[in-house]
Amino acid sequence: MHKSLTDSATEQTNIRTNLLLFKTHLPSLPPTYWFFQSLTEPQFDKLLKDLEQEQHKDEKQKIRCKVCGHPITSTQYKIEVNEQHHHFFSNPIGMLYEMGCFSAANGCINKGTPTLEHTWFTAYAWRFAFCSNCFMHLGWFYQSEHNHFYGLILENLDEVV
Ligand SMILES: [Zn+2]
Repeated sequence: MHKSLTDSATEQTNIRTNLLLFKTHLPSLPPTYWFFQSLTEPQFDKLLKDLEQEQHKDEKQKIRCKVCGHPITSTQYKIEVNEQHHHFFSNPIGMLYEMGCFSAANGCINKGTPTLEHTWFTAYAWRFAFCSNCFMHLGWFYQSEHNHFYGLILENLDEVV
């Protein structure tokens, strides 16, 4: 029996879902073939192609620490805060920073007690954000009651954003 278009679309969606699940759990899975065994050859080819494309896309989108190359964030996490992605600020001792705003930066670790002192974003308390690999100061983590984001110093990242 021929599959309808709808079946085929559903099948592709299922493959995609499985692929994402597979990617997510890959580091914790033993190298078994349970997943591949359930696929037909065309499905398997498509899976590999999807995986390659996704990896290529992920790689292109990564924004890395300029010092050590550790992946910090991704272009997909760029956001606007107060209607701008880029912000220019000077700190109390007159150092000028060009910052980009990101909704997430998984390559950062946040340190220090959140404080509103000298904050550049009203109602947002800040903490320092460092590269979790080499501990270079990369910017600040901002948090308000309902929101949070990273303000990262662009010259410390490998991509001009
Ligand atoms: Zn680093």
